[in-house]
Amino acid sequence: MAALSSRRGVGGVVENYGGGTVRTAAGLCYTVPMADTRPSWDQYFMTITHQVAERSTCTRAKVGAVITRDRSILATGYNGAPSGMPHCLDVGCLVYESTTPSGDLEQNCFRTIHAEMNAIAQAARNGVSIDGAAFYVTHSPCIHCFKVLVNTGVDAIYYTKPYKLETIEELRVKSGVKLIGLAPE
Ligand SMILES: [Zn+2]
Ligand SMILES: [Zn+2]
Repeated sequence: MAALSSRRGVGGVVENYGGGTVRTAAGLCYTVPMADTRPSWDQYFMTITHQVAERSTCTRAKVGAVITRDRSILATGYNGAPSGMPHCLDVGCLVYESTTPSGDLEQNCFRTIHAEMNAIAQAARNGVSIDGAAFYVTHSPCIHCFKVLVNTGVDAIYYTKPYKLETIEELRVKSGVKLIGLAPE
């Protein structure tokens, strides 16, 4: 049974995805089964999350968030100013400094909404329930976002880049929210 690169079947062109096609004695064509080399669901959603992050308008960080449930995307968000407001790309970031309870100095951008918040806002605007959903984020959430995520009823948060994980540790443990680091592509 020879695998052919491609050939025309009885009813039209037989598509070839690399595994070759075979014609039987009866003139039927079918494709040869192949190994499944598709990305996993985690890879699939995380790749999309990194693409979403490319839309960020804050020059300090490109961050993306994708909310999913049952292998479907419910909402997406990225770092950026509220609709109709000037973006950091156009007018520059408005950076302010603050000190955390543990004494660390933090810098944040006053203009932007974080990616997770924008994704939650998009879901709310469209009337999409996100209870029990999973969040895919390029960076692990800041404590402010994490607090809100806990109250959305999130089941699990997947991230690629760790960001100040120690600041959300107590909340993570007490909330029971799963926080799972995925290896970068
Ligand atoms: Zn900014
Ligand atoms: Zn945040």
